[in-house]
Amino acid sequence: MRKNVALYTAENHRFILLNESEPGEEDGIPSNQFLILHNGKGTLMDPGGFGVMPQVLNELLQYVQPSDIEALVLSHQDPDIVGGLTTWLRLTSAEVYVSKIWQRFLPHYGITGMDRFVGIQDEGETRVFGSGLELQFIPAHFLHSPGQINAYDPISKILFTGDIGASEVPQDNCEVFVEDFQAHLAHTEWFHQRYMASNRALRYWVQQVRKLDIDIIAPQHGPLYRGQAKEDFLNWLYDLQCGSDLLTVRD
Ligand code: FE
Repeated sequence: MRKNVALYTAENHRFILLNESEPGEEDGIPSNQFLILHNGKGTLMDPGGFGVMPQVLNELLQYVQPSDIEALVLSHQDPDIVGGLTTWLRLTSAEVYVSKIWQRFLPHYGITGMDRFVGIQDEGETRVFGSGLELQFIPAHFLHSPGQINAYDPISKILFTGDIGASEVPQDNCEVFVEDFQAHLAHTEWFHQRYMASNRALRYWVQQVRKLDIDIIAPQHGPLYRGQAKEDFLNWLYDLQCGSDLLTVRD
């Protein structure tokens, strides 16, 4: 299993990929959790499901105490992201950032304290947290969720993309970064064809993302993209037929 990796380190700012967490079932999808440390405070992105919560906490404690977690970012509403949230809300006093269109559905996870939730506008927005950390929330709607948000950290130039770029690699593959995108396609193609809504949504997203100065694209599952693999990935995505594009409609 892959170990924690510091993707970016400066004096008061670190961006860490936490040890990949396994949900415990053979066919459950492992997930990446990302921790930004800024002036001693932590922001945890896509904290994970209920079963992985103790594992994620264990890794996180190497860097920061739960009382110093200032924000939790949810890329969308799925169980592998939100399932452990009730415990995180109890352990921390963090605010929770999620698309505004999912806010009123989240109490169904047994969540109370919705006053700590901050709804991100459909067109995206920039937020500055108490530590001074600035995160830019970039809309990624229909990829795959109708209310999907990405988070861009302008200091590390890392874009956290949730399910965009996700892949399912063999368990003995501990690579942090995709080295050869053509070889990697076998692990990511079906996921995008099946889970992403349409080529129109993909093109809109690629156009937005190309305006940003990005060193690393960091998805919630599987290895990350940088350098040539990042360019190859964006080019591939721009032309991909997926989701509703693949439905055959008969008159
Ligand atoms: Fe998802």
